[in-house]
Amino acid sequence: MTEKKFPFHDHPLAYEKLDRFSCILCKKKGGFGYFCDKCYFWGHKECIKRSLLHPSPCKHSLKIYTLEALGYAGDHCHFCRDYLLDDFFHCLICNINMDLKCLKDPPPSSIYHPKNHMHMLTLLPRVVTFTCNACGVEGKRNPYVCLECNLMFHKDCIYLPRVISINCHDHRISRIFHLGLGDWKCGICRQKISCSHGAFTCLRCPSLAFHLKCAMKDDVWDGKEFEAEPKEELEDELEDDSEEEIEDDSSEEEIEEP
Ligand SMILES: [Zn+2]
Ligand SMILES: [Zn+2]
Ligand SMILES: [Zn+2]
Ligand SMILES: [Zn+2]
Ligand SMILES: [Zn+2]
Ligand SMILES: [Zn+2]
Ligand SMILES: [Zn+2]
Ligand SMILES: [Zn+2]
Repeated sequence: MTEKKFPFHDHPLAYEKLDRFSCILCKKKGGFGYFCDKCYFWGHKECIKRSLLHPSPCKHSLKIYTLEALGYAGDHCHFCRDYLLDDFFHCLICNINMDLKCLKDPPPSSIYHPKNHMHMLTLLPRVVTFTCNACGVEGKRNPYVCLECNLMFHKDCIYLPRVISINCHDHRISRIFHLGLGDWKCGICRQKISCSHGAFTCLRCPSLAFHLKCAMKDDVWDGKEFEAEPKEELEDELEDDSEEEIEDDSSEEEIEEP
């Protein structure tokens, strides 16, 4: 049996028909596939072609590793954070692991959500510490980055609502990236809010702030998001007030004139 080296594995592989192993990717038995007699994995040629030779989320070619290589780059999938319990896939360039579930349903390599950010955000699949520009909390891997604005986000934070209405406050509240210096306490749970973390604030009640998590709880927020920034509404109101004042002044002048 001739063995051949492939980019997706460290050892040379034999092309064989084997019935005792199930395919590393589709888990079915039977048919022709590649076999490693050092790691004892076997995979259909078609499955490997389909799953490993198309660009991975990091755009590099992934290698097949069995659990014996565990610990080399940590013991969990760097995308879903589940522990690796079976053969897994690894990018030597990014030094990240991926389990079968995430290989088959990979995170999007870019996300465009103009409601929250005007530019395309690109996945940086890497173990890297960053401060999320939406919630202000430190992330440890795979940020989505805007290269134009130099911003980084947790994936979930890309979809955080901007303006919401909660049942324990009369005004709409809007999300800001960080509160700024101050002794902030959450208007819902009364616990401290770090001034460097994202929060909801009320533009009409400047001393009030709410944890993102507290304000977005099911029993506090009805899940609806508003398009309009309350700030804009507030500005409209201020403009209206000043116009009224001017009108009042002019009418008074008219009376005094004769
Ligand atoms: Zn297969
Ligand atoms: Zn091997
Ligand atoms: Zn995973
Ligand atoms: Zn990579
Ligand atoms: Zn975040
Ligand atoms: Zn941007
Ligand atoms: Zn709270
Ligand atoms: Zn308020």
